[in-house]
Amino acid sequence: MSNLVNKTALVTGGSRGIGAGIVRRLAADGANVAFTYVNGKERAEALVKEIEATGRKAVAIQADAANAEAVTAAVETTVAKLGTLDILVNNAGIGTFAPIDQATLEDFDRTFNVNVRAVFVAIKAAAKHMTSGGRIINIGSINATRVPFEGGSVYAASKAAIQGLTTALSRDFGPLGITVNNIQPGPVNTDLNPDNGPFADFLRTQMAIGRYGTTDELASFVSYLAGPEASYITGASLNADGGFKG
Ligand code: NDP
Repeated sequence: MSNLVNKTALVTGGSRGIGAGIVRRLAADGANVAFTYVNGKERAEALVKEIEATGRKAVAIQADAANAEAVTAAVETTVAKLGTLDILVNNAGIGTFAPIDQATLEDFDRTFNVNVRAVFVAIKAAAKHMTSGGRIINIGSINATRVPFEGGSVYAASKAAIQGLTTALSRDFGPLGITVNNIQPGPVNTDLNPDNGPFADFLRTQMAIGRYGTTDELASFVSYLAGPEASYITGASLNADGGFKG
């Protein structure tokens, strides 16, 4: 596929998991891609080499999403190294799960800093560079609306905030020809939620198709929303969740 040739993208949290799948797919579709990571330097560098071997440019940027200056700098570095910014994928996210009597204010603040504040900061920085045809894609979670287990309040609230941000920002960006959407995955096999982890069997019972999603299945949805054919979709929270009923 080549529908993203001459486009540039920034994927936050792109060194592993869903983010790495998105980096690979956008590059395969023709885009030059920057991505952030926080700890996994070696893995990030290996991904850069992998993408460069396909003839696309790739840039790995260490930037903790909890640090607003680092997030803004990641956007500026992307533009400096790749020339422009057409596609922003806010994927970096963390999950802290604990029932309300054990959940801490620190959990809440860290989760909201990474899952919500960083998204706001990245979009503000990207807005200075994006032009008509631009794409902002947030990775929320089906847990924004469906939580069939206890202990998910902080994570679910952070992902529900992404729904509201997406809905409202589509109004700010609509007149500029830039779309803003929110993909809400169900369980996807990554380090965050391994398909052989302690919750996996229960989660499978909650899905119509009874299995975890793959990072490729999420990346293909991102690719579609990032491309020219998705120009009439904005402000939407779209589930890719295997029919997660919650
Ligand atoms: P992983 O934990 O597998 O990967 C997280 C990625 O984000 C890594 O590249 C990691 O970098 C990076 N990252 C983590 N913390 C930060 C931070 N503070 N700043 C910058 N980068 C960071 O997660 P997933 O791939 O599973 O999740 C990706 C997104 O999808 C998240 O927003 C998550 O909430 C959402 N999601 C995931 C689901 C799932 O079942 N997996 C379901 C629904 C939503 P490093 O390698 O340096 O640690």
